[in-house]
Amino acid sequence: MAGTTGKRPTTAHMIADPERMRSEILVARAAGRRIGFVPTMGALHSGHVSLVDRAAAECDDVAVSIFVNPTQFAPHEDYGRYPRMLEADATALEDRRVRWIFAPSAEGIYPPDFATRIMVDGPARRFEGEIRPGHFSGVATVVCRLFIAVPADVAYFGAKDWQQTLVVKRMVRDLGLPIEITVCPTIREPDGLAMSSRNAYLSPTDRGRATALAESLALAERMWAAGDEPAAIERDMTDHLRSRGVDVDYAAVVDGESLEPLANTATAAVALVAGRLGGTRLIDNRQLPTRRGTG
Ligand code: AMP
Repeated sequence: MAGTTGKRPTTAHMIADPERMRSEILVARAAGRRIGFVPTMGALHSGHVSLVDRAAAECDDVAVSIFVNPTQFAPHEDYGRYPRMLEADATALEDRRVRWIFAPSAEGIYPPDFATRIMVDGPARRFEGEIRPGHFSGVATVVCRLFIAVPADVAYFGAKDWQQTLVVKRMVRDLGLPIEITVCPTIREPDGLAMSSRNAYLSPTDRGRATALAESLALAERMWAAGDEPAAIERDMTDHLRSRGVDVDYAAVVDGESLEPLANTATAAVALVAGRLGGTRLIDNRQLPTRRGTG
């Protein structure tokens, strides 16, 4: 371990108790240290690690939480089979300047008679909010709970879950939570598939087909640059996804902040896709550059 080679592995301090976590962060902040926080559900991959590295580059200390949050899964969803691999995750974070891994139990986060949930609207309304009722309420509730246990200066989220970043930013603004939110780019496999803990569920055939999501977003970007209307782009994205065997939940080009239909004036747009391959649900998105005269 430490001291045997030039490059010493650093082992993060694993904490399960929310009160203890909070007091350690407050002590560090009182000493003038800037704290970065990366909330995750574990099964860490390079996308998560990119958030950790960004936090480490911008902060004095980094806390990573690993908690598979039951309240953001519907009863028929994959909470039970979601990959849990705390030891491998701790290993993946070695040498990454992570000071704390916060890995609470479900009871630590939600007392047995837990009776409180944050309600969300606005950017939470459409897309994932429609298809997964209660999902963003669960996300907002756990993120708020985690922000109390980990009272960091700044929290890092991935653009991979674009709608989630909007919901979290809106909650922080609306409730006046004392934390900054930084959104980091999506990390992809070499063939364009956005990294996700759920990619591990894909059969080899479906893994081959899964590139259709990123392809449909590249198509959206080309059509957008060529001046096509959102409705035409959405049609072609859907056709492409279906041609590759994806059961499409949505393929949309909308306002990048409100996720409502684009106004006539120049607005930052985002292309969003979600669909299922076998039993696996995948989502992805791409920012589209601002242009004039969008109808
Ligand atoms: P999760 O463990 O799926 O809840 O994700 C934890 C955080 O990592 C969220 O902020 C995600 O948006 C982010 N994330 C997940 N996949 C990626 C990716 N491929 N690139 C960048 N960030 C990601």
